[in-house]
Amino acid sequence: MRGLRGKRVLISGGSSGIGLAAAHRFRQEGASVFIAGLDPAEVAQAVAGLRASADAGGLTGNVGGLACDVSQEGDVARLVAAADAALGGVDVLANNAGIARRAAFLSMAVADWDRILAVNLRGMFLVAQAVSAAMVRRGGGVIINMSSTNGIAGEEEYAHYNAAKAGVLLLTKTMAVELGQYGIRVNALCPGYISTPLNAAIAAGIGGDEFEREYARQRIPLGRTGQPEEVAAAYAFLASDDASFIHGTGLVIDGGQLAVM
Ligand code: NDP
Repeated sequence: MRGLRGKRVLISGGSSGIGLAAAHRFRQEGASVFIAGLDPAEVAQAVAGLRASADAGGLTGNVGGLACDVSQEGDVARLVAAADAALGGVDVLANNAGIARRAAFLSMAVADWDRILAVNLRGMFLVAQAVSAAMVRRGGGVIINMSSTNGIAGEEEYAHYNAAKAGVLLLTKTMAVELGQYGIRVNALCPGYISTPLNAAIAAGIGGDEFEREYARQRIPLGRTGQPEEVAAAYAFLASDDASFIHGTGLVIDGGQLAVM
């Protein structure tokens, strides 16, 4: 991808799944990365893994990380300050942290609704706003917010998650409208079913691998679920100069799932 070498990339939710795959991909493209996750041990392990693969592959950019909760304003301020201190600034934000739980609409607990919205929508806003302010001061950057196919169509038993991801899509478009004038390019990713620890935990309660295979057979024209690396490639593309005129949109990566009638 053009223009990623030497870039400084902050990845929230970079300690697992899609975010971790994106961290490895950005490193391979010659960027420095700073990752955030909720669990300190997981963040430390991911940073060590990124450093080890960089050493083995002769990569030169920096790697750092911090444990924080993106739904908390104070944590987000700490995160952005730490990324700034470690990298000397942030050129690209992969605004990726998120959680998911299944719950039928009629019995959904208010506490579950609040937590999903707090992490997946409020957290997105807090991180995006803090990083944007620094990007405005520095003269530009790229922001990629993590939405979902669930932000476009309403999957059963995910009302809270769907509402949050739809919110992320319109947050993205509004940011694009307001921030383009500052040289900040903003887009969203809308992946379908990707095989990550998040989905493995959900599938474990309802049939595991067999659930995943059946889901793919029934709903995904390509007949399989996606891999984190396939979303990481989309992160790298949208962050690169190859996407220089792509602004204010959501890129669907779903094996054709939304094309089904
Ligand atoms: P994972 O569970 O594998 O990774 C989620 C990451 O987010 C982890 O690093 C996790 O840290 C971090 N995180 C969770 N809550 C917080 C928080 N409050 N503050 C900071 N970090 C937090 O999930 P995926 O890789 O599957 O998902 C990544 C993103 O992609 C999410 O936004 C998800 O909604 C979205 N997505 C996923 C799809 C899929 O099919 N997997 C499809 C479409 C979108 P820790 O592990 O320490 O909790």
